[in-house]
Order: sequence, then structure tokens, then C-alpha cells
Amino acid sequence: MEEMGYNRKIRDICEFDLKELTAVFEELGEPGYRAKQVYQWLHQKLCRDFSEMSNLPKSLRERLSQEFRITEAHPEEVLVSKLDGTRKYVLRLYDGNVIEAVLMRYHHGNSVCISTQVGCRMGCRFCASTLDGCVRNLSAAEMLAEVYAITRDTGERVSNVVMMGSGEPLDNFEESVRFIRMISDGNGLNISQRNITLSTCGIVPRIRELAELSLQITLALSLHAASQEIREEIMPIAKAYPLSEVLEACSYYYGKTGRRLTFEYSVVKGVNDNREEALHLSRLLKGMHGHVNLIPVNPIKERSFESPDREAVETFRDILEQNGINATIRREMGRDISSACGQLRRRFVEHAGMCTD
Ligand code: SAH
Repeated sequence: MEEMGYNRKIRDICEFDLKELTAVFEELGEPGYRAKQVYQWLHQKLCRDFSEMSNLPKSLRERLSQEFRITEAHPEEVLVSKLDGTRKYVLRLYDGNVIEAVLMRYHHGNSVCISTQVGCRMGCRFCASTLDGCVRNLSAAEMLAEVYAITRDTGERVSNVVMMGSGEPLDNFEESVRFIRMISDGNGLNISQRNITLSTCGIVPRIRELAELSLQITLALSLHAASQEIREEIMPIAKAYPLSEVLEACSYYYGKTGRRLTFEYSVVKGVNDNREEALHLSRLLKGMHGHVNLIPVNPIKERSFESPDREAVETFRDILEQNGINATIRREMGRDISSACGQLRRRFVEHAGMCTD
């Protein structure tokens, strides 16, 4: 859906990193320091209107507003948890598509979970984001706009970012990497790369490519099973990349970056929650430098997967711990506004009768 009056030819000024913006300004015949000023307005002060850039000459402000647009992710709906202050956002993009992002408040600071695509094409069986496939990739500027919209809304600094919302970040590789570089830039929000986590379902060549970039981010692998057979049952991508190759790629990532890994394991009742799987997982991860994050599956109405019993999850964790594998059970944030990844967006799209392409 194209929004009225929106002109695709007008470039999004938030797409450029500082080096590129400096080159763009040179082309316009403007000095380099102006590019830096504009960059800081956009990415540090989170200004969304050229006319407010008060240290620029008026003529330049006018020129910029004619030649560029400023990406926004506009909050359409915000659900606020009364239990822990978690805020779930439905954000609208320039073309009418909507995505979701979540703010979680922890003792160590505010963490934002962002989407990297509108929808997803990976097809994991228990995930709501993938039910309608992938509508389109998000640009880095749109990922930044998710964090900026939430920062502006709350007035609070975001210290951590997890790329764990809708979409597969490694299926949108270039823009995801651009996002990581820009959000950790000293002239932007300056969020330490050590406080950024990228979660992937395991696209082997892209994990290796990411390792070569020597970023300091944490890699989280959505493992969800200790055997190839069960993994294939719940994650179609497992057919393309066998478990052994995925784990080798993770070790390679650790070797290149020295960053400890996170293994996510969504626990599904009667599928992957038994003792044998826990033992199998312990053996599989022996010697891997990382820990396991157990996520009791959040059931979605379109599929029959059920949440595991609390006791089963605790036993699962204990078995891992007894076998020398660090494991935690993910604390559920915003239980009272609970909705699984991608469900909020779906509900919004269905109810509002909006089209998504
Ligand atoms: N595509 C990436 C990132 C997005 S999904 C990935 O696969 O990692 C983020 C995490 O949420 C993944 O571990 C995913 O498997 C998990 N997830 C998705 N839907 C879920 C649900 N209904 N219940 C529990 N975890 C879910």
C-alpha cells in the first residue's frame, strides 16, 4: 500500500552512514561539517524534522526537506504491561506496512527487541511472524527508526538491542549489518556492540560471513532441537543446513570474535521437552562456548503446539546444568500483554483490515 503523496524518488536521508552522508553533502556543495551536524540531529538528537535543525542555515534546511525524507516508524498502538513496564509497539512504516517492536525494562537497562523484516520466510512451525511469508525487508533506517520511536516515546535511553523480533536478520544481511554499525556509531546512539544480540535460525554461509566482519555483537542461534530429525520437523531451514554445519559455523564465529554464543531453545510440550533431548543437547554443546536460553513456547492459535509444564522446563535446565552446560529459563516479560513474536502485528493487520503488500 502506498501512502498518499509519498514519493519514492525522494531519498531517505537516514540510510546514509556518516561517511556516505559527507559524500552526499560534497555533491550538494556543502562542507563536511554540515553532514556531521545533520547526522547528529538525525541519529543522536532523534530529530524528525529538518526545520528543527537550528544550527543549519534556513536555506539548507529548506533544500534538505525538498530533496530528502526522514524515515519514521510511527506508533499506531502501544500495549503497556502493568506488571513490569514492558511496552509492545505496533509501528507503521511509510508504505503502510506495520511491524512490531518491544521495550523491556531490566535492572541493567532498557532493551529493545526489533523486527528486521515485514513478516518472515523461514517457516518455523511455532512462529506467528512467518505465517504469511515475508512481505519485504526493512532498511537499516527503518530498524533504527524502531529504536528511535521507542526512545522518543519514553524519553529513556536504550542500552541493549536484540534483533529477535519478526524476520530473519541474516536473510536481510546488508541492512542488518548497516543497522549494527550505525546504532553503535559514536555520532549516533552509541550503543555498544557488546550490548547488541543478533538472533538467527542458522543460515550457515551468512553466519560465516558475519564472523569475518569481526563485530563485537552476540550471536544467538535458534537451535530448538538437539537432533537433526526433530529440528527439521519444527524448522524447515534445518533441511538446507544440517545441525553439524550450523554448530561448526557457530564455533567459527566464536573463534573469529571471541564472543560467547547464546543457544535459544523454544521448549514445546511433547516435542523437545524430554530428558533424552536434554541429555542429547548437553552432549551436543559440550565444549561450545555458550549458554542455553530456554524459552517456553508461546502458543499461537494457528498451530497446535503447546507450552511445556514448568516442571519439565526446570528439569530440562537442571539436566543441562548437571552436565556442565550453563542454562537459564527466559523470564517472560509483559505476561499480561502477552503475545508471541509476530502475533501483535497479525492481530492489528487483521482487525484494521489493512493490506500488507
Ligand atoms: N529469525 C530469527 C530471529 C527472530 S525469532 C531467529 O530465528 O532466531 C526470535 C526467537 O523467538 C527465535 O528463537 C524464535 O524461534 C523464537 N520464537 C518465535 N516464535 C515463538 C513462540 N511462539 N514461542 C517461543 N519462541 C518463539
